[in-house]
Amino acid sequence: MVTLKNLHSFIEMGHKVTVIGPSKYHYYSGMGPGMLGKTYTPDDIRFAVELVVTKQGGNFVLDKVVKIDPASKTVFLENGEPITYDVLSFNAGSYVPWDQVTGGQTDIYSAKPIETLLKAQERVLELISHKTINISIIGGGPSSLEIAGNIWQLASDLGKHMPAITIFAGSRLMSRFPEKIRNMAYKSLRTRGITIIENDYSKEVQSGKITLESGSVHEADIIFLAVGVKPSTIFKESNLPTGPDGGLLVNKYLQCTEYPEIFGGGDCIYFQDQPLDKVGVYAVRENPVLFHNLVSTLEGNELNPFDPGGSYLLIFNTGGGKGILGKNSLIFDGRLAFWIKDYIDRKFMREFQEMEK
Ligand SMILES: Cc1cc2nc3c(=O)[nH]c(=O)nc-3n(C[C@H](O)[C@H](O)[C@H](O)COP(=O)(O)OP(=O)(O)OC[C@H]3O[C@@H](n4cnc5c(N)ncnc54)[C@H](O)[C@@H]3O)c2cc1C
Repeated sequence: MVTLKNLHSFIEMGHKVTVIGPSKYHYYSGMGPGMLGKTYTPDDIRFAVELVVTKQGGNFVLDKVVKIDPASKTVFLENGEPITYDVLSFNAGSYVPWDQVTGGQTDIYSAKPIETLLKAQERVLELISHKTINISIIGGGPSSLEIAGNIWQLASDLGKHMPAITIFAGSRLMSRFPEKIRNMAYKSLRTRGITIIENDYSKEVQSGKITLESGSVHEADIIFLAVGVKPSTIFKESNLPTGPDGGLLVNKYLQCTEYPEIFGGGDCIYFQDQPLDKVGVYAVRENPVLFHNLVSTLEGNELNPFDPGGSYLLIFNTGGGKGILGKNSLIFDGRLAFWIKDYIDRKFMREFQEMEK
């Protein structure tokens, strides 16, 4: 986002900039579940990337990168012509794997791309307007918690047929988090009648049906996949150095360990010095370093190292205007937690949406 905001400075230095993305808009995932629950409109949570790029004199290509050839410094696209580069920045994020899905994909939605949640919202509203349905969410992490809470909000606000919501949490709900946060998550879900199934992983997902490792089969009208994310597949496809999760292996300068003209940030990288959680907080902390290092590489100046910093604040949007906040030993839930998240997220959006004006 910082590089996009400062795109004009590359142009002013005499460079040509091309931004490649599959959508004219970039959706901010931190507010995605809130959009699902109708707290936010799509406009509230998206940046007009194409507009911002072209306004500053850059070139926007509506396409998807499939792989690159680092030897000839060429980027290959899904549909368009290959594009060459001198310096490349990877910010392609992560995706939710669909490995378990067999057969058709009707009424199956994943937590990412965020645009999918809008389609899911429309479908949920359509179905619950005239009947009671089963909605299942596969995954036991924060996105599962947030999707469940915001589906509940969506249905409660509509006030017609309340769906039966079930979370298939795999091992345990929010297993990576302190007990206090976990207990708050259980309380929030259970008081709303949301069922949590633990100690049983999903094995196969088909339209309308989930089969667990234990053999039990569950019917579901709508299924959400929230099974965690993996870095973009571009790096494996391109034989670039990767970390154990398949993310682009980068050194302390956020620079590819083998090709010094390639950089990256966010969910799609594997930071060599220490593995980083796939949270927006790190993408945001990397932002100024990434921008500086892209400029410095083009201008022959010194690179800055990235320091991941200490612990970070996490706030989960549990729907109904409530949240769970945690930073170190400070943990609380309720309306104030969501209010703080809403304030931070809207402020973040405003800063970058300013670019559109
Ligand atoms: C539901 C949900 C809620 C979350 N809430 C929070 C939160 O509250 N706080 C927090 O810190 N983190 C949160 N996270 C994690 C956070 O979203 C990510 O860590 C963050 O978005 C990473 O930023 P990014 O720029 O690397 O990737 P992304 O935000 O995923 O952006 C990647 C971009 O690259 C584009 N792209 C993808 N593939 C290609 C390709 N092949 N070619 C070209 N372009 C491509 C995509 O369209 C997208 O615009 C949440 C995640 C999810 C799924």
